[in-house]
Amino acid sequence: MWQNKEYPKDTLFCFKKMNSKKFFITTPIYYINDVPHIGHTCTTVAADIVARLHRQLGEEVFFLTGTDEHGQKVAEAAEKENLSPGEYCDKIAPRFEEAWKNLNISNDFFIRTTDPKHEKVVGEVLQKIYDKGDVHKAKYEGWYCVGCEKFVTESELVDKHCPLHPPEKTVWKSEENWFFKLSKYVPKIIELIENPETNFIFPEGKRGEVLAKLKAGVNDISLSRENVAWGIPLPWDKTQTAYVWFDALINYYSATQFVEGKKEFWPADLHLLGKEILWFHTVIWQAMLLSAEIDLPKKTFTHSFYMIDGQKMSKSLGNVISPQQLVDLFGIDGTRYLIARSFPTDNDSDVGIERFKERYNADLANNLGNLVSRVAKLAEGESFENLDSGIEKDPDYEIFIKLINELKFNEAIEIIFRDSLNAANLDLNKKTPWKLDKEDPERKKILKEIIQYLLVAIKFLKPIMPDTCEKIEEVFKGEIKPLETGLFPRIK
Ligand SMILES: [Zn+2]
Repeated sequence: MWQNKEYPKDTLFCFKKMNSKKFFITTPIYYINDVPHIGHTCTTVAADIVARLHRQLGEEVFFLTGTDEHGQKVAEAAEKENLSPGEYCDKIAPRFEEAWKNLNISNDFFIRTTDPKHEKVVGEVLQKIYDKGDVHKAKYEGWYCVGCEKFVTESELVDKHCPLHPPEKTVWKSEENWFFKLSKYVPKIIELIENPETNFIFPEGKRGEVLAKLKAGVNDISLSRENVAWGIPLPWDKTQTAYVWFDALINYYSATQFVEGKKEFWPADLHLLGKEILWFHTVIWQAMLLSAEIDLPKKTFTHSFYMIDGQKMSKSLGNVISPQQLVDLFGIDGTRYLIARSFPTDNDSDVGIERFKERYNADLANNLGNLVSRVAKLAEGESFENLDSGIEKDPDYEIFIKLINELKFNEAIEIIFRDSLNAANLDLNKKTPWKLDKEDPERKKILKEIIQYLLVAIKFLKPIMPDTCEKIEEVFKGEIKPLETGLFPRIK
């Protein structure tokens, strides 16, 4: 039933990787001065879908997420609540873990950068960078955004402050820091990005952005802080703590070093990130690894942001959407589906609760959910043999895998609807098996065909909606039983 379509084969997008036995995928570790919102949710759900697909392909997967817990911003947030930074982190970190549990996220480990095992690896990596001669002491002065935890250049300032954060977050800083020779690694990084064999920046559109900035000239950056006590002390100078970004980036590597049995997973196959942290992951992280002589991650994928009803999501606008709010409305799998369907792969994606409702009703309640209950009811009591359609032989399966790996979830889902679910719905309405006698073999033949369409769709949709898909498979296993309640009740 799946047409064999022409689809451009992207040679940069190595299929080799997918057949290798191990697959290591990460989300950014989320900065703990906030509670989980739809932005964190979209990255985590996306990583989960990719991780589940790779498990479905028989690979051994290590899926890592966690929280970034050091730095001035955390110390300030803790102080506001009259807590020590450690107490504050212990209070907030579980909210992230909880949020991911509530979305059926299948991460294999949850890393916290205040874990002494992580801190130890950070010390070791920084020491390697120091021993390499890539660190020197210098005075630094400049505008610093506490919100971003980074120095901002004059050209980045808008109205004299960081455009991403309130004006009071941008402060003038002057201190003696240890500096990392970032500039030394710029030619190597340019070379890696420009070589299609070694380039690690996806989607393609992001490469030019990074290359232009690299070619415009890059300054060395400080890797430590003088007055931020809430951090990891430098091994060679205990009066300074590691700049929170240096500490945080190392989490991807440190987890493989201290979580049992994960050493073989380095280098990471895929770092998933949001566009605001592109530079840190594609330049600074790579330079650190080059300096410490650690293998580089194979790929980074940078997605765009969600706009909420045409506006940037912000606390002050009061339009922040939390994962729990979505789960309460759409259920776990409904939420996962809506996130995948609207995922901001290349450009910002404009979403809103009303549009989520429309999408949910159209795709899940009226199409998939309705189809399953109609067919289950018509075929009640029947049992069919050899329903397994062999998804692996399906010419669309390879395309589907490729689209998921490129985080083009929307396109992947459209294939399933176009080729399977819509086709099954059409067939059902055209062939009207309910008009045929129960004993008529033609009726049985039609139903079997439709169930096969449906089960193919379900196999494809499984990484996106794992529980629902298992439930549907259960319905059609052995003697077919009707659903007691609808899968996706319509929402007003
Ligand atoms: Zn900022």
